[in-house]
Amino acid sequence: MSVLSVLFLLLFSTRLVSTEENLRTIGGIFYQDAEDMKVALKISAENYNFSVSIKEVSQRGEILEIERYVCELAEEGVLGIIDGIGGHASEHIQAITDMLELPHVSIQHIDLFAKNWSIINIFPSPIAYNKVLKSLVETKDWNNFTILYIRGHSLLRATELLRMGNSIDKRSVTIRELNGNDYRDVLIDAKKNGCVNFLVDCPARNLEQLLQHAQQVGLMAEEHSYLFVSPDLFTLDLERYRYSGVNITGFRIIDPAANEDLWKFTIQFNTETVQNLEPVQIKTEVLLIHDAVVVFNESLKKVNVTSTQLSCDNYDSWKYGSTLINFMRTNRVKGLTRSLIFDGFGQRNEVIFDLLELTSSGNQTIGHWIDDKLKIERPFIPDAQIGEESILKNKTLRVLIAPTAPYGYVKNWHTALEGNDRYEGFAVDLIQKLSDALGFNYEFILEENYGRKDPVTHKWGGMIYQLITEKADLAICDLSITAERQSVIDFSQPFMTLGIGILYKRPSKEPPEMFSFMAVFSKEVWYYMMLIQMGLGVIMIFVGRISHKEWQNPVPCIEQPEELSNQFSFANALWLIIGSVMQQGSEIAPIALAPRMITSVWWFFTMVMVASYVGILVAFLTVQKGSMPFQSLESLYEHKSISYGAKENGSTHSFFMDSPKTLHKKMYARMKEQGWLVPQNDIGVAKAETEPYAFFMESTSIEYTTERHCDLMQVGDLLDSKTYGIGMKKKSPYKRYIDDALLILKEKGEIQKLKDIWWKEKRGGGNCGQNSDEEEPQLEMKNMVGAFVVLGVGSVFGLFISILDMLWGVFKRSVKYRTTFKFELIEELKFVIKFSGSVKPVNRVQKQEGSLENLAEVAEGKDEIRSLRSIRSGRSTDTRRTHHSHSSRHSSRSLSVAFAKRREYS
Ligand code: GLU
Repeated sequence: MSVLSVLFLLLFSTRLVSTEENLRTIGGIFYQDAEDMKVALKISAENYNFSVSIKEVSQRGEILEIERYVCELAEEGVLGIIDGIGGHASEHIQAITDMLELPHVSIQHIDLFAKNWSIINIFPSPIAYNKVLKSLVETKDWNNFTILYIRGHSLLRATELLRMGNSIDKRSVTIRELNGNDYRDVLIDAKKNGCVNFLVDCPARNLEQLLQHAQQVGLMAEEHSYLFVSPDLFTLDLERYRYSGVNITGFRIIDPAANEDLWKFTIQFNTETVQNLEPVQIKTEVLLIHDAVVVFNESLKKVNVTSTQLSCDNYDSWKYGSTLINFMRTNRVKGLTRSLIFDGFGQRNEVIFDLLELTSSGNQTIGHWIDDKLKIERPFIPDAQIGEESILKNKTLRVLIAPTAPYGYVKNWHTALEGNDRYEGFAVDLIQKLSDALGFNYEFILEENYGRKDPVTHKWGGMIYQLITEKADLAICDLSITAERQSVIDFSQPFMTLGIGILYKRPSKEPPEMFSFMAVFSKEVWYYMMLIQMGLGVIMIFVGRISHKEWQNPVPCIEQPEELSNQFSFANALWLIIGSVMQQGSEIAPIALAPRMITSVWWFFTMVMVASYVGILVAFLTVQKGSMPFQSLESLYEHKSISYGAKENGSTHSFFMDSPKTLHKKMYARMKEQGWLVPQNDIGVAKAETEPYAFFMESTSIEYTTERHCDLMQVGDLLDSKTYGIGMKKKSPYKRYIDDALLILKEKGEIQKLKDIWWKEKRGGGNCGQNSDEEEPQLEMKNMVGAFVVLGVGSVFGLFISILDMLWGVFKRSVKYRTTFKFELIEELKFVIKFSGSVKPVNRVQKQEGSLENLAEVAEGKDEIRSLRSIRSGRSTDTRRTHHSHSSRHSSRSLSVAFAKRREYS
């Protein structure tokens, strides 16, 4: 056997001996009334094969008794002591266990930051708490808050918060001590001083009373926000505070979803204590006792120790103590409260907290503290629950509305009406819909001034002031969401999008101009028409000349004419074209297929053009727009005879006042100087109608106005883009509910429906018809291009047919007169492209019939011969002159004559 195996056996046997021989006993010290903790220790010890020795202290603060019990436990040879006493008494346990070198496991917050070496504190350390609390206060953006703590307890967990009160952070922190059994006086005092945010650092046993007293003194309303340090807040029944609207945030350190051991422990605990608790209802200290036993158990798996009976009187110390303590501190263990990780001083630091909030639908986890970071994931409240959960239920809200059409109207017969019945409008209907969804009541307060920050005093006025000072709960009208306003109040989700436009008088209609008939078509169309007529004229001549059917006998009574004539001279072709355009026709009528085809396409084209022209001309001669004196902001500013303005104290006013653009600034200065600002939109509209006055108005209001005042219109583009929202005080508890309800209304199209009703139907909507501000139409090239294409395609096709016709004729002649096709083609083309001479000689004498001389005689003096001769000789000559070409097989004379002879009517 090797030495190693011997050693292994030895070690193994020693371990066996120690587990069997040493009874694994854990000591526990508790107050007599701490039943739950004692039960927890018993269950856990049983689960992990420990025996327990429990000492019960009869009275709180009995130091001597506590010290005696610690020594008794040491004498029994326990492996360590679980301390359920806490508070200052723990310091005494600490002192003795330090001397004895016995592990001392604490499960409660200790008010002293003890660095004594024997302690292991399973409760989250003050360092961990300080980090998470600081981060939460920053996230909640508390600028001032009050720390409430119980007399006799330190604020070790809130030291970072106390530092927040220094000048750099600019937060105001107040500390209030809760004393005795009645906290109400302190709380009333806090209320009188306007405290709304509270951090509560008190033990779990005081929580219930504190919550009750806070509710009794009226510190549990929507405006109040609490942050509780104790991880036991959500083990309490908070049902009675659910609908108060108060914001309560707290921690939990167990992981209820992912821990099988927790369920097992809960069942055992319920059985022992005859209770029916959920895991989340078990107090943290009870769970931590379980975790303390786990820490012992896991460490003892790694280190071999023998229990020893120790005496306080002899100042004994346990020789395995320091080893076991070190293992317990460095071993990473998983308990019911997630991972148990300690630092070198036995403090539990890397803690994972669940963050919970009390909402009207119960306790909700809103985020986590993990890896020293705050992760907020606020859950979405399903739509269906909004009405049910609403903290607005049965509340009566003071709602500001403005007498601005169509958002709010004071009914004309209002003297006979009372309360909310006096008003109607878009905003009134919208509030009603929100009230239906959220279950609140409301009373309207009329306010004309929307609110603007005074540039000198920096004070707010109007609706914004009323919301800031909580004189009203909501403001609903055409209230624009602006950054400046948002810095002092909150806005709901936007319910409308718009921009600033210019409202001005529509230019009056003028009598038609002298040449207004020309404006029916754009210039381009006119140019193309002219060009096409010229081009088509040329095409017609060409096609006419190459189509042999167009060569007609000019004297029908002569059967064998000597000449044929063609009607397509330039003048005739143009006459035919113009006659069609004018819908008059002409006596020129094409005969051959190709010219007929081209003429038909042209007729079709002219029909389309004329019909379009006539159609539009009517509109042109009846509607004639006058010219707008300005089209943009620049030209309005230049136009000295036109004044302009906006609604006073509104966002349009602020837009010009605060704009960085020089033009806006100049315009604002003039508006202000000249007193062109108006207190109400109605007044601006009336001025725009009666004076040369341009009114800067929001596009939604312009839309409303132009539906009713047909002589007004919007000029140019919008100057900006913004939205309307419902105003409420900063951090209003209603915001979330109103946002959700508004979103639902938007998605269902309810807001659009309301808009259609108040813009287009009620109170004179639809007065101006549909296209009141449409421009006169003008036919441009893009409108007429189809007709041009038909004409082009038809002409090309006709040209193609005429060329085929010509080639067929050329071919026939070349066969008949036994010449080459090419020769005939060249001769034909030469004749055609001459574009002159609408007479063609007909000489049908065959080669063999009669002498060439005779033929020449016949043809002499005729145009064609003349031309043929000149072609042959290569120059223009007198018809009487003869030419000789040495290069040809025949004399030029004889050839010319022969060609002339062949020009017969076939
Ligand atoms: N919507 C504007 C506001 O919220 C009022 C109208 C205007 O300024 O044109 O102040």
